[in-house]
Amino acid sequence: MAEIVPHWLTKQADLAPNQTAVELPDGTIYTFLELHDKSQSFARRLRGLGVQKETKVGILSANHIDTVIAVHALTYLGAVAVMLNTRLTEQELDYQIHDADAAFVLVQQHDRELDAAVQTFSDVWMLPEHTGELYTEIDLDLNFTIIYTSGTTGFPKGVIHTYGNHLWSAIGSMLNLGLSNQDKWLAVLPIFHVGGLSILLRSVIYGIPVYLMEKYSKQLVHDAIMTKGVTIASVVTVMVKDLITQLGDSTYPDTFRCMLLGGGPASKSLLEQAKARHVPVFQSYGMTETSSQIVTLSPVDAMEKLGSSGKPLFPAQLKINAGDHEVGEIQVKGPMVTKGYFNHEQATQQALTDGWLATGDLGYTDQEGFLYVVDRRKDLIISGGENIYPTEIESVLSSMEGILEVGIVGKSDAKWGQIPVAFVVACNPSVSEKNILDFARHKLAGYKVPKDIYFLDKLPRNASNKLVRSKLSDRLIDNDSQSH
Ligand code: ATP
Ligand code: MG
Repeated sequence: MAEIVPHWLTKQADLAPNQTAVELPDGTIYTFLELHDKSQSFARRLRGLGVQKETKVGILSANHIDTVIAVHALTYLGAVAVMLNTRLTEQELDYQIHDADAAFVLVQQHDRELDAAVQTFSDVWMLPEHTGELYTEIDLDLNFTIIYTSGTTGFPKGVIHTYGNHLWSAIGSMLNLGLSNQDKWLAVLPIFHVGGLSILLRSVIYGIPVYLMEKYSKQLVHDAIMTKGVTIASVVTVMVKDLITQLGDSTYPDTFRCMLLGGGPASKSLLEQAKARHVPVFQSYGMTETSSQIVTLSPVDAMEKLGSSGKPLFPAQLKINAGDHEVGEIQVKGPMVTKGYFNHEQATQQALTDGWLATGDLGYTDQEGFLYVVDRRKDLIISGGENIYPTEIESVLSSMEGILEVGIVGKSDAKWGQIPVAFVVACNPSVSEKNILDFARHKLAGYKVPKDIYFLDKLPRNASNKLVRSKLSDRLIDNDSQSH
């Protein structure tokens, strides 16, 4: 039998009607009751556009209150939200909109030329409300969202999340981080990524406020933590860097208890700086397929296990098919893990076996079971039989004075099979190939020292701001064909 729970927003509007659900930086507040009323009203208007159970509706918008309302409105109709990344090109958007079979796309403004029907939020607010039953319950097996992977290692795939996936994700997070009646979670990560969306859902499931920020600025995030009572903030690595600089010699208030870091690797030197400044950084590991974090370093271990992503959350399991404490592909299982990719049966079958998701990431666990993520399987470099993980070299070199960022890829080599080469973005013109190699030789084993250094103005990144190493490899091929 299907597993049914009461509709979570309706429930919270009953349990805590006057509690703040969403707070905006300009001081505007929406209570759970107001959010409930507005979401239901928006749902009734969407119905006039033919939205019903399982209709897929694209949402292409920044972190705006209307985005929050639209997501909840779809739940009242049993419709599916296809969350679209505003940083994608129109061609990339059209691909995702058609691949996900979206009936139309909700936007803030008509500012993109999309090959799809488009409705602005204000268009919808102008429509009349249609009567008819709204969902009062949630079937946990029903599909709720489709979110595309970042496309860092290949073509983006539409990950389906059920209500159950999101509910279990929220429960798993809370069983690790705990919950206080003062909690206020900062949502500056975009809602179109699962890391941002999950904050909205935790808010409704826990009954806590979201501090919703439309645009990232280190000053505004800093102020929110210092003066707005934010207790938890979800961030990515670049933000941690910025915020530590912004913090200077001050310290955050004691009530700020967690800076939840996810989405990609963080260098040890950055984590050490955070530790020295008493910034409560919690490393986490997860992906679109796991509905946000699935492995997180718990508060008690955060300082002891620097560089680790922690242990699988209470409802989740982890295994690595390799010898004890050896590097292998990370496999995860749990009720927050997707049942598959939309319309991509083959990719689903490749990724999932008996509920275990093959993540495509390499890692190992230490004696006590703490996970260390080393790199993506596709980016592994094998040189003379030795495994080289590009992230390790990138992390070491980017700690050098005068270097802004580094990308490492393997280049084919007649003698070694592959050799590591570096693409460097310098922020100081005096940084030379020789400086970098001297630095690298002191810090890295000989086979890990890059054999060539190329200087670039910036590294190729995708719409999720992730380094796309395959584009660096393409440059090597281009360079080669030019020199021949
Ligand atoms: P695609 O699957 O399309 O190639 P993607 O994997 O980058 O894109 P996301 O789901 O946005 O898409 O990102 C998840 C990935 O981010 C993980 O599989 C992992 O490679 C990386 N990642 C997340 N957390 C960490 C972490 N703590 N350390 C290292 N890498 C991480
Ligand atoms: Mg992926």
